[in-house]
Amino acid sequence: MSAALASVLRSGAPETEQLVDDFRDLAEPVVRQAEGKDFLAQWQAMADLGVLRLAPPGATAPGPVTRSLAMIEGLGLAGADPGLCYALTSQIFGMQFPLRDAVGADAWQRVADVQEGGALLCHALTERGGGSDPFSMRTRARREGEGFVLDGAKTFITAAPVADRAIVFARTAEERSPFALSAFLVPLDLPGVRRGETFTKTALPTVPMGELLFDEVRLPGSALLGRQGSGLAVMASTTAWERAVILGYALGPMRRLLARTVEWAAERNHFGRRMGASHQVAARVSDMALALHRSRVQLYAMAARLDAGTPTRLLAAEAALTKISVSEDYVRLTGHATALAGVRAFLPGFDLAADLASPAAALTYAGPNDLLRVNVARQLGLPVEN
Ligand SMILES: Cc1cc2nc3c(=O)[nH]c(=O)nc-3n(C[C@H](O)[C@H](O)[C@H](O)COP(=O)(O)OP(=O)(O)OC[C@H]3O[C@@H](n4cnc5c(N)ncnc54)[C@H](O)[C@@H]3O)c2cc1C
Repeated sequence: MSAALASVLRSGAPETEQLVDDFRDLAEPVVRQAEGKDFLAQWQAMADLGVLRLAPPGATAPGPVTRSLAMIEGLGLAGADPGLCYALTSQIFGMQFPLRDAVGADAWQRVADVQEGGALLCHALTERGGGSDPFSMRTRARREGEGFVLDGAKTFITAAPVADRAIVFARTAEERSPFALSAFLVPLDLPGVRRGETFTKTALPTVPMGELLFDEVRLPGSALLGRQGSGLAVMASTTAWERAVILGYALGPMRRLLARTVEWAAERNHFGRRMGASHQVAARVSDMALALHRSRVQLYAMAARLDAGTPTRLLAAEAALTKISVSEDYVRLTGHATALAGVRAFLPGFDLAADLASPAAALTYAGPNDLLRVNVARQLGLPVEN
């Protein structure tokens, strides 16, 4: 790898870069051994490496969020399956950190064991009718004594077929008001909980996606996250965390794809010269480096803001911009690599085979980019609503 490429790839603080490299080296043999095993066996192997363990709040630099992001990048660089990395990243940043640092100590104590890998969480918001509009949700929780009774269904949920507990959003009031929704931590072995359909995905196929069905599920009052009616606030926190750093899982695959494409363009002969001697090819490679550089800088900047204790409500616009920017750069970078690989991009047996669906899925999950653009414009003062 050239010095210039290496320096594009190492634009962070030295101790963070060291952590990425150390974790890549630690993970490489484990990733190789875990290859081909089922999802839960691979999950446990990654958990045994410590990737799900959060550093204590206030840990010295690199802070806990930066540390977790660096470990995820190292794991991706070691060649871990992107679907597995996505699922780990989604649990760490979209569930573990918000439960620990935003929702409260009680909630965290009930799930802290997930850091050892023996139990999995999922985030159950979307329903068959749609995901973008939370107020269209039909899942309901009605008060009964000290507790609640939950009815409904959540669909297209990452890890639902294998998860042990779910953060479930449900309607606790009928109107379309900011206080109509509540969030619950639901053990998935309770009477009345069933796993519905499992969906085969073209994107990130390693991690299963499924449906959760709730039929008169009795929940104790302690299942409530926050207070009754604070579901939208919990959702704002989990989604801001997710949007800020979930695309960290893409950094490893982006770096690997750039390095492999540079190698390929440098070695392949075309028209009596090296392919990489074409300015058009060189421009595509530069655009790939630009996409990666921009993504890395933004993701680590978000991690630093979270480590500094910035409340997620102040980060909503920046988190949305980061999610839009990195997901679109991931798609762009993969598009350039696909063009430069020619036919090999479409042959699964070749190491230049491209996965276009997984980057494209990032345009949709954690909030479709079109809707996030509207949110950002609203926060800037435009009179625009979804
Ligand atoms: C890989 C993957 C993993 C997922 N994991 C989870 C999970 O773990 N938990 C979970 O709850 N959900 C999950 N989802 C679902 C995801 O959150 C939803 O797909 C997402 O919220 C969008 O909802 P939808 O698919 O119903 O799209 P829709 O709401 O139907 O929107 C589709 C498109 O319509 C356009 N559109 C619609 N309304 C507007 C508007 N008002 N303004 C502008 N454009 C608009 C946009 O282009 C938008 O992208 C996952 C999705 C994917 C792809």
